[in-house]
Amino acid sequence: MLPVLIAGGGIGGLTLAVALARHGIASRVFEARSERPNEGAGIQLGPNATRVLRTLKLFDGILPQAVAPESIIVNDGVSGHELARLPLGDWIERRHGAPYWVVHRAALLETLWLAAMAEPLIELETGRTVQQVDDAAGGPDVTIGFADGGEASGQLLVGADGLWSSVRKVLNPSFALKCSGVSAARAVVPREQMQGRVSELATGVWLAPNAHVVHYPVNGGDKIAIVAIGKCDEQLNGWNTAISNDVVAQRFAIMPTEVSRLLAAAENWRQWPLYQAVENASWTKHRCLLIGDAAHPILPFLAQGGAMAIEDGFELAEGISVNSIDPADALATYCKKRYQRVANVQRASVANGRTYHLDGLMAVARNAALRTVPAELFMRRYDWIYGYRAG
Ligand SMILES: Cc1cc2nc3c(=O)[nH]c(=O)nc-3n(C[C@H](O)[C@H](O)[C@H](O)COP(=O)(O)OP(=O)(O)OC[C@H]3O[C@@H](n4cnc5c(N)ncnc54)[C@H](O)[C@@H]3O)c2cc1C
Repeated sequence: MLPVLIAGGGIGGLTLAVALARHGIASRVFEARSERPNEGAGIQLGPNATRVLRTLKLFDGILPQAVAPESIIVNDGVSGHELARLPLGDWIERRHGAPYWVVHRAALLETLWLAAMAEPLIELETGRTVQQVDDAAGGPDVTIGFADGGEASGQLLVGADGLWSSVRKVLNPSFALKCSGVSAARAVVPREQMQGRVSELATGVWLAPNAHVVHYPVNGGDKIAIVAIGKCDEQLNGWNTAISNDVVAQRFAIMPTEVSRLLAAAENWRQWPLYQAVENASWTKHRCLLIGDAAHPILPFLAQGGAMAIEDGFELAEGISVNSIDPADALATYCKKRYQRVANVQRASVANGRTYHLDGLMAVARNAALRTVPAELFMRRYDWIYGYRAG
């Protein structure tokens, strides 16, 4: 078969390309950026994602940079009291047969990128922004046009071009994104400067009314990645824009000193307004398919958007490999398989966000539950997410 065309060389697009190559299927990946992104942000990878990375033989590249946090330390973000230590580390690896990792995004992308570059079946073309799609119904192939001119044709086009997907605009012009009213500020700080709970080899979560802060070690434990999520009043147009320490300090002023010190230690805050899909529209049309954020934006309150993109890429490659005679048919089968799983994770993420941001008596009740429910029992609620075996 002709190479599969993939728009976007991010987490989902590169996972798909590598997974296709492992099945002996060629692909061409078109990435708008001319260099690998190196933004100051981390990513948590649950066992459902690391299991895929291990199957694709990508562990060696990530391992030196990854940390397997011992636990999730949940704290009251107003009083500063510790509420629970939910087990990760060996416990979750034994339970689900794959580790829970936290890692700098640049390390994950570097591993995927190098694996793609080393693979003769993958052509990775950078600085190529996909702008047009010509996918006449019934035609034998699909043609894409680039912003800088030129075109490429293939039997299938996969739009893995993220939240602001150009492929989605052509496939599904009525698809709308809704700003959630909260934004995420992200930064990375040296771990040696920190003390107390924020410096532990654990994921820390601080819960406050309408705000929460998450942090975890990255770069093999040398640094701490911070995500600070809160409501913001300004017009949320900017995506990945700089934000000052003063604004961050003001927005999270309610947090205890341990957290304010952590926030103050960061130098290069950047901000992402968080978006949801108004509704999940169709992911496929003729010979085109959307995966990852292009198909199904997910609020990051369960740290699963990237994991879903990884599962998507892996499951799509499996589907194409068993249906290579009629690859377009594989797209419909893929959608049937993935739709419910992703919708469940989207819903659970929204619910988690609500719980995180509770106020008043509801927050008191949440904290009491966190203090009293046995930590392992609590974590078993997420078995359906982490125990999932993509394939
Ligand atoms: C604050 C925050 C915290 C998060 N934390 C986590 C977490 O801990 N764990 C987790 O699993 N997920 C997390 N996520 C979600 C995760 O980042 C995304 O779900 C994931 O990056 C989606 O992967 P993707 O491949 O679909 O898109 P992306 O990673 O965005 O990749 C899309 C790629 O397409 C390229 N591109 C865009 N347009 C074009 C075009 N027209 N032509 C060619 N290329 C194009 C882009 O340059 C990019 O490289 C978080 C998200 C946010 C906002």
